[in-house]
Amino acid sequence: MMLTINGLTKSFGGLTAVNEVDAVIEKGTITAVIGPNGAGKSTFFHLISGFHQPTKGSIQYNGSDITKTPPHKTAALGISRTFQTTHLFEQSTVIDNVLIGHRVRTKATIIDAIFRTKREKNEEKKCYEKAREMLDFVGLSHLENNPVHSITQEEQKRTAIALALATDPELLLLDEPAAGINPDETIELASLIKKIVRNGVTVCLIEHKMPMIMSLADHIIVLNHGSKIAEGTPEEIKNNPEVIKAYLGG
Ligand code: ADP
Ligand code: MG
Repeated sequence: MMLTINGLTKSFGGLTAVNEVDAVIEKGTITAVIGPNGAGKSTFFHLISGFHQPTKGSIQYNGSDITKTPPHKTAALGISRTFQTTHLFEQSTVIDNVLIGHRVRTKATIIDAIFRTKREKNEEKKCYEKAREMLDFVGLSHLENNPVHSITQEEQKRTAIALALATDPELLLLDEPAAGINPDETIELASLIKKIVRNGVTVCLIEHKMPMIMSLADHIIVLNHGSKIAEGTPEEIKNNPEVIKAYLGG
């Protein structure tokens, strides 16, 4: 297994956002994490990527323990992610956003930028090439020099995906990639996700749009009030009474 999660728990004071969750992610697959608002889905991602430290439980990634590994290290190990609300610099161009994100991840500092050696300038050139390659991959080359505030919501989602891909991840976590975009764009986005997987990246996504989940996911994990209430194939999940109850607020 690429990722093995055991008894994962995160409490915020009296509230248990993620409660004793066991899960696995198999290499080369698409796993969907679904559940009502407040179910603990984003917290689950924050725990895997190291933005939050678990209260209890463990996370193994390719055989190594990453339970308490901070975000820059999980990124270096090959886990990349997007956020539910895109963290983009609105005034900067699309390509600069991909570059800035890349630099933040590789931990280059402002001092590095001032005292740059020839080798570092070469690195910079490689970063540009990588950013261009990723923008081409997500279909945004034509918008490279446009400021982020001038592009659509869906294009912003693609920019965030390009940024996440710029570190060459093995595992990509997408937090609600289709939120706030229209049905046609959602279909386009689903085909982009399929293309990412065809290129060897394992994907785990949080989504609310059921048709998209049903067409994409190999495996679905359902969270409710922090606990895993069901998991299985789309077919199994669709007819699961616990899941239907959770969605109807029962
Ligand atoms: P989802 O992504 O499924 O909508 P979240 O993981 O964002 O759910 O949140 C799960 C629960 O944890 C919610 O009740 C939320 O209010 C709470 N929560 C999330 N982050 C924090 C935090 N940093 N501090 C306190 N409570 C939090
Ligand atoms: Mg969320």
